Amino acid sequence: MARITRREFVVTGTAAGLAAAAPRAAFGRAPAVRTRQSVRPVVISSANGNRFRNGGSETCVELAFRRITAGDDVLNSLVAGVNIVELDPEDASVGYGGRPNADGVVQLDACCMHGPTRRAGGVAALEGVRTPSNVAQAVMDQTDHHLLVGPGAQIFARNMGFEIEDDLNTDRSRRMWLEWKRRIDPSHYLHPDREHARRDVDAELLAAGLLTEDERYGTINCDGISPDGQICGVTTTSGLAWKIPGRVGDSPILGAGLYLDNEVGAVGSTGRGEANLYNLTSFLITEFLRQGMTPKDAGLAGLRRIQENTVERRLLNRRGLPNFGVTFYVLNTTGDYAGVSMYVGQNSRYAVCTENGAELVPLEPLLDGAASD
Ligand code: ASP
Repeated sequence: MARITRREFVVTGTAAGLAAAAPRAAFGRAPAVRTRQSVRPVVISSANGNRFRNGGSETCVELAFRRITAGDDVLNSLVAGVNIVELDPEDASVGYGGRPNADGVVQLDACCMHGPTRRAGGVAALEGVRTPSNVAQAVMDQTDHHLLVGPGAQIFARNMGFEIEDDLNTDRSRRMWLEWKRRIDPSHYLHPDREHARRDVDAELLAAGLLTEDERYGTINCDGISPDGQICGVTTTSGLAWKIPGRVGDSPILGAGLYLDNEVGAVGSTGRGEANLYNLTSFLITEFLRQGMTPKDAGLAGLRRIQENTVERRLLNRRGLPNFGVTFYVLNTTGDYAGVSMYVGQNSRYAVCTENGAELVPLEPLLDGAASD
């Protein structure tokens, strides 16, 4: 059982009587109740959180918002939301049907954080489970650890009763992998002069109409705050397309793909994981929020740090600016939020669900023009 502070005990204990009628959370955790004034409940996520429905009627942010405002545990609600995207074979960047690695194997990363209890869990390079976010939550709830990887994560998932499948490819993800494999040097590691990168092949696939800009990057990050101020978040992905087997990106790493503090806010990310890992930018942005910055200013300051630390020539465009995309979704304790990105294109949006419903809203760019300019 996780240790909780006296303050949390008081909060949860006081809530126990009041919340007797509230639905029980997974593994028996009752939702904490805080009496924070003027919190606007909201769920934000990457754009795929308001695109995919997996054949149902609701998107990720709609389902999560409905459940949070009905009194469900915030993390349970967010994980149920991202499950829609993980299970939908049409999203080629998350869960089932996600882009496989260089060997054609789908390896998934995920993590989650529960603000009220200060707990977190993650899995990386997990094979055979369509919903890694649930396994991350089980690591959080059932172990003393934060991160399980590879075969160990799979054994843990099996022991927790998750179904293990041989292969999470769909026909489409396998076809695309074959297409990629056919075009590239099978070893596909960086050339020793570090000037040649896989992006040339991606550009060919884009030009041939075999890949869309949307599919090039993936991942869903989803964060929410309840009317009583509980803040939680989850990030889940199949990671970088065609990655070296065993490569783990930012998504399952606390402080990178996700970070939150119940007293400050939540931050999650999609885009070039290596750039985010180098700067632990979600943690950094959370600290900027703690200093009193708005979500937008804090997010842009985090992006600026990434820009400053991007010095390798292969990662710079003709203007000497980063030649990759990275995006942050930022939420504070009053329910103010922002989505910020290194660059934005015409369709660069993120998902928001409030009492007015769900919509895709424009991201704020740090830099003008495009990554490739
Ligand atoms: N951030 C993910 C990773 O680096 C990929 C993505 O969001 O596109 O694994």
